[in-house]
Amino acid sequence: MQKQSYDVVIIGAGPIGLACGIEAKKKGLSYIIIDKGCLVNSLYNYPKNMTFFSTSEKLEIGGVPFVSHNPKPTRSEALEYYRRVAMNWELNIGLYEEIVSVDKETNFKIVSSKAHYEAKNLVIATGFYDLPFLLNVPGESLTKVKHYYDEPHPYFGQKIIVIGAANSSVDAALETYRKGAEVTMVIRESEINDRVKYWVRPDIDNRIKEGSIKAYFNSTITEIKEHSVSVNTPEGNMEIENDFVLAMTGYQPSFEFLESLGIEIGTDEMKTPRHDPETMETNVSGIYLAGVVCGGLQTNKWFIENSRVHAEIIANSIKNLS
Ligand SMILES: Cc1cc2nc3c(=O)[nH]c(=O)nc-3n(C[C@H](O)[C@H](O)[C@H](O)COP(=O)(O)OP(=O)(O)OC[C@H]3O[C@@H](n4cnc5c(N)ncnc54)[C@H](O)[C@@H]3O)c2cc1C
Repeated sequence: MQKQSYDVVIIGAGPIGLACGIEAKKKGLSYIIIDKGCLVNSLYNYPKNMTFFSTSEKLEIGGVPFVSHNPKPTRSEALEYYRRVAMNWELNIGLYEEIVSVDKETNFKIVSSKAHYEAKNLVIATGFYDLPFLLNVPGESLTKVKHYYDEPHPYFGQKIIVIGAANSSVDAALETYRKGAEVTMVIRESEINDRVKYWVRPDIDNRIKEGSIKAYFNSTITEIKEHSVSVNTPEGNMEIENDFVLAMTGYQPSFEFLESLGIEIGTDEMKTPRHDPETMETNVSGIYLAGVVCGGLQTNKWFIENSRVHAEIIANSIKNLS
């Protein structure tokens, strides 16, 4: 296999990885963006009917206008937009390409499932959407348990349990309820998360109050069985008849991958990967972090909106050092 050499290899073709490619190109740096999945793989795996909370101009990268039907674009508009960005900028992207190993000699030697690369710098823009937090209860591996919600249709006429009380749980509960599912929420906390979008909050509160959606607060799942779920509630243990479980328990970055590159993970509660916010360079010289991966477990700190600036900071840092 012939080795390809670049100033920078960017791992992750999410919105921020693409922005990094654009900024590298603007600065005359040679680059490739590599993703193990499709273009903007995380967005592709978001619920099919989701609408972004950001208005479209806040999701723009590379100066390409994002025109959407409504102020807040949908997932399919965003997929169309980022495809256009990749085409418009003629970005150099390798898709469906797994990283097999990364070694540092003078430069980085990267082996993927498709090629060998040598790079002076590495940008890690791998997001947090690949690893769901597991419940760690018996039965979690049953096929009826989903950690990603895509669309409501399969749940019509089914008894479903939605675990969690944040935005993704609330959206899934409301959408499946409206498409004919019998929805029960199991919520560890005493109330719906206060970060739930303010325009959605009254809807879920009222559906729970009127009993259209049943909710058990201060409650946890203890076991998932083929046709039921065991729940520990303040009133004692209950067995609830059940067809599907939507475990919307959040996601986390792959700390294992970051550590395999030598990036130190902070000892703080949020396990923030070590990096200098002025340059985005990590403790490993030549490795930079971009996008939501920077926040560690704090997945509500960085969004597309506020992390797209990382791309320019990184390209400037690399250019200034070269
Ligand atoms: C339901 C939902 C709604 C959201 N709405 C908004 C919003 O309205 N506005 C906003 O600003 N933000 C929003 N966000 C957050 C936003 O989507 C993320 O901030 C955004 O996707 C982050 O971009 P990113 O490029 O950092 O990471 P991602 O988009 O997650 O991209 C990471 C990429 O890296 C790839 N990857 C991961 N590991 C590897 C590996 N080892 N090798 C190769 N490739 C790898 C993945 O396949 C993926 O394509 C939302 C998030 C969710 C979950």
